[in-house]
Amino acid sequence: MSESLNREAHRTDTGGDALGTRRPAVVVDVGGVGIGGDHPVVVQSMTNTDTADVEATVSQVTQLAEAGSELVRLTVNTSAAARAVPEISDRLRASGVTVPLIGDFHFNGHILLPGNPSCAAALDKYRINPGNVGGRTWDANFARIVECAAEHDKPVRIGVNWGSLDQALLTTMMDENAALERPREAHDVMIDAMIESAMRSARVAEEIGLPHDRILLSAKVSGVQDLLTVYRRLAPLSDYPLHLGLTEAGMGRKGIVSSTAGLAILLAEGIGDTIRVSLTPTPGGDRSEEVRVARQILQSLGLRMFEPQVTACPGCGRTTSTFFQKMAQEIEEYLRTRMPLWSGLYPGIETLGVAVMGCVVNGPGESRHADIGISLPGSFEEPSAPVYVDGEHHTTLRGDDIVAQFIEILEAYVVRRFGAGAEAKT
Ligand code: SF4
Repeated sequence: MSESLNREAHRTDTGGDALGTRRPAVVVDVGGVGIGGDHPVVVQSMTNTDTADVEATVSQVTQLAEAGSELVRLTVNTSAAARAVPEISDRLRASGVTVPLIGDFHFNGHILLPGNPSCAAALDKYRINPGNVGGRTWDANFARIVECAAEHDKPVRIGVNWGSLDQALLTTMMDENAALERPREAHDVMIDAMIESAMRSARVAEEIGLPHDRILLSAKVSGVQDLLTVYRRLAPLSDYPLHLGLTEAGMGRKGIVSSTAGLAILLAEGIGDTIRVSLTPTPGGDRSEEVRVARQILQSLGLRMFEPQVTACPGCGRTTSTFFQKMAQEIEEYLRTRMPLWSGLYPGIETLGVAVMGCVVNGPGESRHADIGISLPGSFEEPSAPVYVDGEHHTTLRGDDIVAQFIEILEAYVVRRFGAGAEAKT
């Protein structure tokens, strides 16, 4: 984890004027992590272990936190899971993992939370899905959860999901719509029902006694266009911080692209204070991938800086050898392995930009735009590789060990630019 949460502004230079003004939101403190206001957009994730399995859950929370998740959510679905939460928290804290823990409650939160006070105390936030709180007993069940949050001074996220929308509310709104002279599309009413569910639950929570700055909202759907619609309608209705995510985004490329498409548009419009990328991992796959994707979305938008970025061209017929691809990969890998050390030694290192380019067409130009860049020779070009530092030609590399020579220059640059006594340029 290379980035300091509170040190940076929401918009960085790379964002510039292309991004809209951020939606104002009250700051909600979640276990020491500020969400909303001027705080950077926070990355969160969720475990997929059985929470009752303390060992497995501690291990996965640790991995997610090490990957850069700033909040981690656990499902709390049974008494055994609720009983495990305090031990999970204790073991994480004992090993130096301080990431706030969020309990995800459906159907029985009104029983588990009051019945397991040490779980209620150990969690840093509760997620309540108002669609899964109860039917005729909704009021009483919801009140018990909110009272528990108020008693333990914990924030809640009222997280509506279109897959589990409050059916009583939806039916009422559909009936009202059907009685109109010109009824709206049922899908449109469903979007409004999600928003009403979130807003009404927040109102009730405040009436019960939860402070205004202890509430966050989310309204997740699985389609990108619906996500834009629901959040654009929800955003102006309050100043509660908003958690963004495309629910059930899917696997691999589809999940990454769909999540990025939806989240990036909303974030660029200034909507969203915390995000999760809900990827379905391959069986036995790495759960931390969703954290890396979420961070990359924020860094690509210029909203946050986490780690140095390598700019590399796609390659084409002008550079037919694989040398350039391998070098781009090696440099990226090198930067990743150096970051645990560098991030402690070199403040601002996460803003470093490195270019590895395939030929003379765009190579020198792109390398000049980077902090440090190399333009490799394309096919039929002279076998030499000019290196640019801070926009100026620095040297030209030749021979079989160009990668090693470039890394040497890179190391020297990092020390000079970001080391103690360096003139701050970030
Ligand atoms: S920089 Fe050269 S090798 Fe890379 S994509 Fe452009 S033309 Fe092709």
